Amino acid sequence: MNNNEIDTVSVDLWERAKTIYLSTLRNDEERSQAENYFSMISSISLIDDILTIFVKTRFGAEYLQEKYADKLKLSLDLAGAKKETILEFKFDPRSNTQIIQPVTPKATVETLQVQQPAASVKPQVPFISTLPLEENYTFEEFVQGSSNSWAFAAAKGVANNPGQKSYNPLFIHGGTGLGKTHLMQAIGNELKKKNPSMSICYLTAETFLNEYVNALQQKGMESFRDKYRSIDVLLVDDIQFLQKGKQCQEEFFNTFNDLTWKHKQIVMTSDVSPKNLPALEERLISRFIGGMVQEIEAPGYETRLAILKKKAENLIPSIPQSTLEFLADNIKSHVRAMEGALAKVHVTISINPTQELTQEFLSIILKDFIEKEQTLKKLTIREIQECICKKYGVSIGQILSSDRTASLVTPRQLAMYISRKYTTKSLQEIAAEFDKKHATILHGVKTIEKRLDVEGELKGILAEVLGEFGYNIADKME
Ligand code: ADP
Ligand code: MG
Repeated sequence: MNNNEIDTVSVDLWERAKTIYLSTLRNDEERSQAENYFSMISSISLIDDILTIFVKTRFGAEYLQEKYADKLKLSLDLAGAKKETILEFKFDPRSNTQIIQPVTPKATVETLQVQQPAASVKPQVPFISTLPLEENYTFEEFVQGSSNSWAFAAAKGVANNPGQKSYNPLFIHGGTGLGKTHLMQAIGNELKKKNPSMSICYLTAETFLNEYVNALQQKGMESFRDKYRSIDVLLVDDIQFLQKGKQCQEEFFNTFNDLTWKHKQIVMTSDVSPKNLPALEERLISRFIGGMVQEIEAPGYETRLAILKKKAENLIPSIPQSTLEFLADNIKSHVRAMEGALAKVHVTISINPTQELTQEFLSIILKDFIEKEQTLKKLTIREIQECICKKYGVSIGQILSSDRTASLVTPRQLAMYISRKYTTKSLQEIAAEFDKKHATILHGVKTIEKRLDVEGELKGILAEVLGEFGYNIADKME
């Protein structure tokens, strides 16, 4: 077999696998998303049963590897690849331009520029490394209520008029599972619908941080900067992660200034208000609050019922009103838990469609959800403090004091951690019960979080304390 033949075999294989994979996707949205990523491929090589797909950006390579490698493996098998073929996506640092070079001029190595389809049906949208937007996260699917009406109105305002000073940046904060990501992506979806050529970038602050570190290591700062400064709308989810990187904050600050100066829209979400991000630079915080800050709170009964109704519309259109009411009555902590309970009902009646959904029956199948809610409701911060004091042999007074002796700091911070992660209490309530500032609580929580990663003994104590409340570590609220 000569080299040309090998080349053709390898690219054909990839093209076939790609076609098979694309044909399995449910809708145009997913297909164009995947095609968008596949268009970043610069070359392919097959060496010793390893099919390496080179990608023009590091982010693209990482994203393809994480999101598509496993799924494509099956398509590759179906396309006739050898069973032992391994598929991997790699960043090709040399392919900043469209000119593709062969990988290695070895006889057994083959490389070929991937042919892009000659005439693409869709208009070419400039590629930005954005995470995909969830297509159901739209304004239409979002149920308004008093707990979220301001955040909703602000998000709508941004979608109608991006870049307008009074909404720029928009900062949405609130507890886990209350709809922050949904609302942020609804802005992206709406803008994309209205103006397909608009470059919208959605990512988490963690992704931004990782990309920044990569750019530093690979000396790719310039293209990193160019990329983020050339977009129209920047949606950064979970901005609290930015606290992890001091240097990256500087870069974000510059990007932020550059974009707002050009009247480009920025939207951010966080689990706490901007003022409660202690490890974030002051100047960033003052920028964040310079636009509009809105909070989403836990929904009340009426809103919970309306959300359940909306979610059931597609899943179980025939669900009795009494079942929705039972769910709204019993599951209150966050919308994600409500969706989980609804899914449980769905599965149960799919298996047994004639089953009557009595209160007794619902109580049994939703036992886990309801128990969790009740425990969350029952658990007071005082109980947590008392339990910890007993375990460590210290007094409540010592826990509430400002004494920084090491033997007091750990139990104090552990109690803060449990209060924050295993109850629905707000930061304000926790701070009041510990007689401390918000920042002190958050610092305590972060410290324990880090220590738990490496300290088995501390994890053991946490499990014991939680166990006394009939809880386990995995019951965390987020
Ligand atoms: P957060 O980002 O605040 O943790 P998400 O946006 O991920 O929460 O929301 C969790 C789930 O709850 C999502 O499936 C979302 O669609 C749903 N959800 C939250 N609030 C609402 C709402 N008001 N209307 C409809 N769905 C909601
Ligand atoms: Mg979120």
